[in-house]
Amino acid sequence: MMTARFILFFSTLSILCLSSGSVLGAPPVIIIDPGHGGRSIAGSLAERSNSSPNNATSPGGLREKDLTLEFSRILHDEILKEAGRAGINVGVLMTRNDDRNLNFVERAAIANRPDTACVVSIHFNAGGGGKALGSLALISSQQRNTNYAVDEAFGRAIAEACNAGVRKYIPSSKSRGIMTDGHLHGGLGSNFFFQMARHRNLRTVPKCFLEVEFIDNPAVEKALLRDGRAEKFQTIARSVAIFLVEWAEPKAKQR
Ligand SMILES: [Zn+2]
Repeated sequence: MMTARFILFFSTLSILCLSSGSVLGAPPVIIIDPGHGGRSIAGSLAERSNSSPNNATSPGGLREKDLTLEFSRILHDEILKEAGRAGINVGVLMTRNDDRNLNFVERAAIANRPDTACVVSIHFNAGGGGKALGSLALISSQQRNTNYAVDEAFGRAIAEACNAGVRKYIPSSKSRGIMTDGHLHGGLGSNFFFQMARHRNLRTVPKCFLEVEFIDNPAVEKALLRDGRAEKFQTIARSVAIFLVEWAEPKAKQR
């Protein structure tokens, strides 16, 4: 298991090394976490580490866990392309790159690096009885989060960047901005944020769940998730990547 995780770790870490920045030190790393995966729950509720294998399914049977991985792989590549175009030294690390579930202790451990610039967990929501539309960022609520102001700015901006891409295919979609996790687990909040907050390094790192669109809305499935999905995901991912690279740029210059 350790060997498998070791290989996963290094096979998914892509650092774009530009000679000007690399002499100054390691570039900032953007962590992309494809939500869910595998066939069974990873971790436990008692340890506050439980990650469900799949949370939402489209009317036609597309699973959230597959779309999160597909979108994350495209986003990974778009970040590196955008960083290359902008001449910025940035790395990208995915917490998983196949159909496996990792518990939140494991996901937080992968994210816990001294060079982490931000953590974005990719999801496709279900809600509103199949009628909801929009992109949103879920962030850790104010009472548990010393980094709330940064997370709020980061979350609003990434939801807007994502939705700008979505609107090319669904003009009536809107960015729903941020939502906090105060309603989850009887008020305890997200177990992923709980596990990340245990790492000192990660407390001041912006982090959110990015809910790309509502997977259970038939209009979303038709416009976004069927014909030409890879190309549509690439358009949305490019918009998110431009935001993330701009966000990481000052950190790249500091190193
Ligand atoms: Zn999810």
